[in-house]
Amino acid sequence: MTASSSTSETIVVGGGLAGIACALELADHGHRVSLLERATTLGGLCRSVQDPLLGRVDTGQHVYLGCCTELERLLERLQVAPSLRQSRLELTVVDPATATVRRLRAAALPALLHLLPVLLRWPGLGPAAVMEVRRVAQGLRGQPAAELDDVPARGWLESLGQSPTVIRTLWEPLLVAACNLDLQSCSAAAAAQVISEGLLGSPSAAALRVPGTDLSSWLGPPAERALSRAGVHVRLRWRAQEVSRTEEGRLRVSDSEGAGLDADQVVLATRAGHALGLLRRGGLGDPGVELAAGLPDSPIVNVHLFTDRPFLPGSVVVVPRSPLQWLFDRTALSPQADSNPGIYHSAISISAAKKEIAVAEDRLSATMWQLCQSTFPAASRARLLGSRVTREAHATFAPITGSQRLRPGPRTSIPGLLVAGSWTATGWPATMEGAVRSGRAAAAASVTSRQRRAA
Ligand SMILES: Cc1cc2nc3c(=O)[nH]c(=O)nc-3n(C[C@H](O)[C@H](O)[C@H](O)COP(=O)(O)OP(=O)(O)OC[C@H]3O[C@@H](n4cnc5c(N)ncnc54)[C@H](O)[C@@H]3O)c2cc1C
Repeated sequence: MTASSSTSETIVVGGGLAGIACALELADHGHRVSLLERATTLGGLCRSVQDPLLGRVDTGQHVYLGCCTELERLLERLQVAPSLRQSRLELTVVDPATATVRRLRAAALPALLHLLPVLLRWPGLGPAAVMEVRRVAQGLRGQPAAELDDVPARGWLESLGQSPTVIRTLWEPLLVAACNLDLQSCSAAAAAQVISEGLLGSPSAAALRVPGTDLSSWLGPPAERALSRAGVHVRLRWRAQEVSRTEEGRLRVSDSEGAGLDADQVVLATRAGHALGLLRRGGLGDPGVELAAGLPDSPIVNVHLFTDRPFLPGSVVVVPRSPLQWLFDRTALSPQADSNPGIYHSAISISAAKKEIAVAEDRLSATMWQLCQSTFPAASRARLLGSRVTREAHATFAPITGSQRLRPGPRTSIPGLLVAGSWTATGWPATMEGAVRSGRAAAAASVTSRQRRAA
């Protein structure tokens, strides 16, 4: 390996939300920081791909909630706004059996009462659902989420008196989308966190936010500008190959050509599997990273439909008990629709898409379009002009039962080495909020270590 070409106090590897949040926080505390990212833009999984026919298409629709306070704080700093910003939850819910369409809005009332109009009007649920949801709220009181880690979410909901109808019609669409896993496999700890922080928190906690443009433009360039203002040295197209220990006891991040950067501290803000590979190739190891790298992944598939007229009854539509899951009207955000005023863009976001990930693109698009036609009356009058399927096989880790204890905190057994990423112990499922929290937690741990050394 060639001698190190430059030095830096802290190196952050990975320019997703975790790496961006970590680098900014460290720079705010006076660290000299280099951020290394192998891609041509920052943003990690929040990205769009260039399609030869359609231009930029997001790899998957992203949504966040009012309770994602750390993400919102970061986005404010990046001067990035969502296109949709509700003050409290508003959702169009469609019953696939009866085609009943309900536009639901939470009330401006204290927590739990705010959900009354949503639960009372949710298609397929009756007034009894209100009492059932109340039992979940009572069950969550004084119940530490960690104690629920080994319990499957479905069994936990059943133990709290949730009927099969309420589970299928209400909890499944909300929790499968948030946790990206079926309720049988999902840890009740992950489900409980989503319910208590999102749904049962303040009325604004469940308010939806949708990114303002395609994901790569939304996050990458503003993040680069903010990092540069903060004095962070961002190196794009810099693929780390290994992390090793130098003879002087510092950490070295090397690329495949052997060029290296040395630092007192390194934060690996990549996926767990990638972090493990970097350490192993450099002759290092950490049991926490190793355990987390063993967590299975869960896929997300999006089906983009381009039609000659709009057919969705709202900008965000949920279809419980249907493979359609969640649908988004992306016409205002879509470059295709923008350059062709007669084209309307709808995206079907399929979470926990184990089956769909293996289905051929044409077949999946055709099946989903048929379902749209049988669910939304306006779709039967629309003409499908084109479609595109985006698949992310490794979209998130699967928050399976027992997964919470496999997620390490930011510190590792290797002095000077920290980890960040939505897979670390944030308490949140693999989300943008979790990623930002993990980055800030790694930065806080790094700052504390530095202060201890200085004392
Ligand atoms: C299709 C899809 C839909 C989603 N929907 C939502 C949603 O609606 N709401 C929500 O909150 N979350 C959603 N998520 C999850 C969310 O995108 C992620 O949890 C979050 O972006 C993860 O950020 P991160 O920084 O932890 O990791 P990543 O975004 O994976 O960032 C890791 C970075 O490390 C870089 N890297 C890896 N190896 C190296 C190396 N050797 N050298 C240099 N750089 C390297 C990668 O290129 C990447 O940029 C979705 C994810 C997908 C895929």
